[in-house]
Amino acid sequence: MKDAVIVGGGLAGLSAAWRLRNWGVTLLESNHRVGGRIRSENRGRYFLNWGGHMFAGGKTATTDLINETQTRSGEIPGSLSAISMNGKLLIDGPVQSYPFRIPMAMKDRVSMVRAGAKVSADVLRYANAVRLRPNESAEMRQQRIYDFENDRTFADYVGELSEDAEAMFRPTITRSAADPDELAAGAGIGYFSLVWNIGQGLNRNISGGASNLVESIAAPLQDDIQLDAKVQEIVHKKDHVVVRYRQDDIDHEIGARTVILATPATVAHKLAVDLQPEKREALAQIVYGPYVSAAFLTNETGPKPWDRAYGIATPKRSFNVVMNQGNIVRGAEAERQPGGSIMTFSPGSLARRLLDLDDEDILETYVSDLDDVLPGFAGIIEEAHVQRWRTGAPYCFPGRGKLQPALTALSGRVFLAGDYLGTLYTETAISSGFTAAQEVANILATARQTRRHHPVQHPNENEPPRHGRG
Ligand SMILES: Cc1cc2nc3c(=O)[nH]c(=O)nc-3n(C[C@H](O)[C@H](O)[C@H](O)COP(=O)(O)OP(=O)(O)OC[C@H]3O[C@@H](n4cnc5c(N)ncnc54)[C@H](O)[C@@H]3O)c2cc1C
Repeated sequence: MKDAVIVGGGLAGLSAAWRLRNWGVTLLESNHRVGGRIRSENRGRYFLNWGGHMFAGGKTATTDLINETQTRSGEIPGSLSAISMNGKLLIDGPVQSYPFRIPMAMKDRVSMVRAGAKVSADVLRYANAVRLRPNESAEMRQQRIYDFENDRTFADYVGELSEDAEAMFRPTITRSAADPDELAAGAGIGYFSLVWNIGQGLNRNISGGASNLVESIAAPLQDDIQLDAKVQEIVHKKDHVVVRYRQDDIDHEIGARTVILATPATVAHKLAVDLQPEKREALAQIVYGPYVSAAFLTNETGPKPWDRAYGIATPKRSFNVVMNQGNIVRGAEAERQPGGSIMTFSPGSLARRLLDLDDEDILETYVSDLDDVLPGFAGIIEEAHVQRWRTGAPYCFPGRGKLQPALTALSGRVFLAGDYLGTLYTETAISSGFTAAQEVANILATARQTRRHHPVQHPNENEPPRHGRG
């Protein structure tokens, strides 16, 4: 009997496995690699990136994980708020000045400024509402974040916008993987808060690419990780849990005292067949938007106008942002070295337009747009690869706040972890993995004490624990 089976080897499952590394743990991952929505690959001094890449700094679970695993990380160098629109590339300056520096008609400028003033006022209201209060738990604060303006969409909240004003707002909102008419108003306002308080939120990168963090966690756990192991069912028994999975065309069954279920919610609600009905129902209601991303290795020999930018918003393009991954290397070099690495990123409806095209067509569309945004780009491409993420990111839709109590309720031997449990993506994945590991460690420690004191059998050992998120 295993102490714990962890289902899913993304950041949430790996973080849980890391914290439980001194217990008898098996991690089952359906893919041929761990990392889930984290994926980067090394290319000499550069790396290609297709998934999550900006991480939380400061006093966060992410910082703890980075430190504990001795992963090298740094502050993201370069501008996070560049924009390319209507033929103009702006690398820096206050974002509030953009409506006046981007060429656009007066009516668009007026529409933009009017909507900008409304959102600015609500960003302040949001910042106040979500500030951690004395003696408040992280769960209480998370509930308040979900509940902020959670009864209508961002599109309904912001009202009618002119075409250019709408185009300029879109890249920020849609990073969530949702379109303005899908995302809750409060979540949209939260995105502006994140972007306008640049450097306050997700401001760290992993040296050598995000997969280096994944590798640092997984390396010491290698013997406990099973790849290509697709879990099909998780069932509570009287005093343990049975996990059924398929690997190399063979069905397996494994018993465990506890399970941490760290797949996306869309999978979790199907696997955990006997979770509390309200919890299972809440899992089934979580919605993900898609992403398509592409990574380009480039071979330029000298400086480029985009060298100082990390994130360039690109309204009216097939992607909504260009991420200059090469900039991370730029930040550490005394003299501009040849080469670079660029990532494009299409969320929500932009992704839905691309998902079913073949890779060549997606790349052709991307390169044509990239060549406009970064002049001369088509001539410096060394390598290019596409990645489709159908379950790109869970987003906060109107009514999402009401699901949170059921998702985090206490019961059973199956514990949930994953980015859908909060609003901070990689930080939520890691902190939910840590929390689940802590609940499991408590149960395991109690059971071990019980066995020591009552070696034959203690009546309570057969009872499911009364506490724990499951
Ligand atoms: C293009 C892109 C850009 C992003 N950018 C950022 C960013 O800059 N900053 C940020 O914070 N976040 C970002 N994110 C989001 C971030 O990557 C995710 O929030 C985080 O990686 C989710 O981790 P997770 O462990 O919850 O889920 P996942 O990474 O999805 O892990 C779940 C794992 O479960 C496995 N699995 C599924 N079904 C089964 C099964 N039946 N049996 C066994 N295993 C199974 C999957 O294969 C997967 O490995 C981005 C995401 C994408 C796609």
